[in-house]
Amino acid sequence: MKKLTIGHLYPDLLNLYGDRGNIQCFRKRLEWRGIEAEVIPFLSDDSIDFEVLDIVLLGGGSDREQELVCQYLKKIKHDFKSYVEDDGVVLAVCGGYQLLGNYYKTEKKTIEGLEILDIYTEWEPERLIRNIVLNCPLFETPVVGFENHGGRTYIGDHTPFGKVFFGLGNTGKSGYEGVLYKNVIATYLHGPLLPKNPHVCDYLLEKALERKYGEGVRLEPLPDKLEHKANNYIVSRYSDKKYVLKETIKRYT
Ligand code: GLN
Repeated sequence: MKKLTIGHLYPDLLNLYGDRGNIQCFRKRLEWRGIEAEVIPFLSDDSIDFEVLDIVLLGGGSDREQELVCQYLKKIKHDFKSYVEDDGVVLAVCGGYQLLGNYYKTEKKTIEGLEILDIYTEWEPERLIRNIVLNCPLFETPVVGFENHGGRTYIGDHTPFGKVFFGLGNTGKSGYEGVLYKNVIATYLHGPLLPKNPHVCDYLLEKALERKYGEGVRLEPLPDKLEHKANNYIVSRYSDKKYVLKETIKRYT
């Protein structure tokens, strides 16, 4: 029986807006295909053996929690980077996305990042909060979610995860969202991301299975009619709208 091991990093500090739902989604979609799923939660003081992991989830957190987690990230920085460079699968959401970069400059201080991605984030007083829809070159189906961040992320030469169809994304101005690097998806989309976008979940699962068991692993399709209907509903809600940053900010502050 095939098996994937999923490491949930620091659920005691980084777990906003149902990030844990991403873990449930990984687990169920593996089990429905007869593949065993083991989930290992690593609390902030635990040591982490990346050798045994096939998927890593780094969730979101408030600025305060990100500051607290920073000291633990220092200890795993080298091993986490080696795992990513060795094509390890990572889903990093919001605060987790920011922490993969060089730094996050908050209102009060600069939080050191993992320096896995050559990106940086700077805080601005207006939070970027709303539903968001992306066009991702990886998928025919749009990616839908919810964003809520004070940080603006500047991704330099990195490939974005998607183009903003509706919503705000990395900076509210660039028109792009997240980063795709090797087998890492780093994104502002909470919601949680994967139950709303089973195509994204299966993409990451296939990458993890390919890395572990070799090329050519294809997951059999699941009856995702309801999920696609929900996704489609969100997209259709916004298809006639244009986003205007100023209006958005006024409405949400
Ligand atoms: N604290 C970060 C910000 O506000 C990340 C928030 C989050 O993970 N939702 O930008």
